[in-house]
Amino acid sequence: MRTTIVLFQQNLRVADNPSLVRAAECGRVVPLFIWDESVGRQPGAASRWWLYKALADLQKNLSRLGTPLILRRGKTAAVLHHILQETGAEVAAWQERCERPIALRDMGIADALRKSGVEVFLDDGFLLFHPTAIRTAAGRPFRVFTPFARACFTAKLPARPLAPPKVLRGIAGLASETLESLNLIPGASAWTKGLAKTWDIRESAAQDKIADFVAQRLTHYADDRDRPDREGTSRLSPYLHYGQISPRQLWHAVQNEKAAGDAAHPSIERYLLELLWREFSWHLLQQFPLVAEKPLNPAFVHFPWRADHVGLEAWQKGLTGYPIVDAGMRQLWQTGWMHNRVRMVVASFLIKHLLIDWRVGEAWFWDTLVDADLGANAASWQWVAGCGADAAPYFRIFNPILQGQKFDPNGDYIRRYVPELAGLTVKYIHTPWLAPVAILAEAGATAYPQPIIEHGFARKRALAALAQAKGLAQNTKPVGHAFPCG
Ligand SMILES: Cc1cc2nc3c(=O)[nH]c(=O)nc-3n(C[C@H](O)[C@H](O)[C@H](O)COP(=O)(O)OP(=O)(O)OC[C@H]3O[C@@H](n4cnc5c(N)ncnc54)[C@H](O)[C@@H]3O)c2cc1C
Repeated sequence: MRTTIVLFQQNLRVADNPSLVRAAECGRVVPLFIWDESVGRQPGAASRWWLYKALADLQKNLSRLGTPLILRRGKTAAVLHHILQETGAEVAAWQERCERPIALRDMGIADALRKSGVEVFLDDGFLLFHPTAIRTAAGRPFRVFTPFARACFTAKLPARPLAPPKVLRGIAGLASETLESLNLIPGASAWTKGLAKTWDIRESAAQDKIADFVAQRLTHYADDRDRPDREGTSRLSPYLHYGQISPRQLWHAVQNEKAAGDAAHPSIERYLLELLWREFSWHLLQQFPLVAEKPLNPAFVHFPWRADHVGLEAWQKGLTGYPIVDAGMRQLWQTGWMHNRVRMVVASFLIKHLLIDWRVGEAWFWDTLVDADLGANAASWQWVAGCGADAAPYFRIFNPILQGQKFDPNGDYIRRYVPELAGLTVKYIHTPWLAPVAILAEAGATAYPQPIIEHGFARKRALAALAQAKGLAQNTKPVGHAFPCG
């Protein structure tokens, strides 16, 4: 009987966990989580809060199967080395990571372990398709989404999800830190209470959410996905980020509906495409490890960003005077999540109306989103800014009034998150500054701020800034970091 150390990182689940399943088949299992702050970008506050809860759930699930989760802190290589010696384990297994510094660290660890006679098993459960598996005809990584998605649809299907092990045999008496001692959460605060009210972070709850989404909402997904006033999307992104569910589980749950001859094909295709956007962003991160730090389009290196602290604070607090923007930013603060359409609107507002560097917005999302994800967040911010791969053109500047009117036509989403506007009728809900004072007073909406910037002025200013950046870019050498893969 062999002993395997199963290192949990972003696969905090017992179902469809190839490393765990294989370890259980081979003999004794030592489930291990290492809190290693030495490499890579550290999770933001909301993400740490989620991690704490997800680890607590994993502890319960593993104990129920027969062996506890061992928590340690320190450098991964050193801790692994130590626990291999303590347990005499012959095998180490983990899920591959895609962030460059962590992937490099893990490759180094795997090499060293193999040299010392430890067998290493790596699984690739974080993505549907391994980044090396989807290539252009010329063998290069894709930079444009549509052909990338086409290649995914014609590639070998992701494997079917695995059932959790029935039982785990462990090793008694191993020392473990307590979850509290990892200091992941800031302690009780009104903010974390809001998050706790919104989310059930158990793996079993995520499975229920998948089943509920497929049964109740998938059919309408194509129509409802852009409507923040409806519960039209799956809200599974944070569970995917920490691997409490695998993308394969989702892919197959949705594909099964298709196989069952369901009439909702446009919605199914649409949903699979969204899952592929997640893949695409991680494939991009493989090509451009600095995607969170540098614009992929060199013209943006010279963009004349403004240091507007007042505007930034109004944006962060949901006090810009544009109801759809403010509703989104308050949803983010209260729940740690924001609807995708509104993410695009608020990001566009920060970048184009306020001319604040997209990296400032990316960092705020990184700290406050429970689904903050290096691949998806950075790629999406670059996409909105117009400087990313296959990005929205820079001159597409969302009009926050029209976006609100189109995607929240009755203002229900706004009323939910901006209660001071709850008494306004549809006529003024997207443009409260146009409402007569008497109507504002009657609706109790007088405290709501005036717009911090006028839309027409902001649009012209943004376009002029882009022209200026392009002019500067033409007079300078191209930057070396862009498109390094050639
Ligand atoms: C500025 C900005 C920042 C973003 N930051 C993040 C982030 O940090 N983490 C994150 O997971 N997503 C991010 N997204 C993408 C998207 O908004 C979320 O994935 C989505 O809102 C999650 O909600 P859902 O699970 O209900 O999505 P659904 O519509 O149910 O989609 C299913 C899954 O597909 C994936 N997905 C959907 N849309 C996208 C997309 N545009 N890009 C990448 N993956 C996608 C997600 O994993 C999602 O859970 C960002 C988008 C923008 C515009």
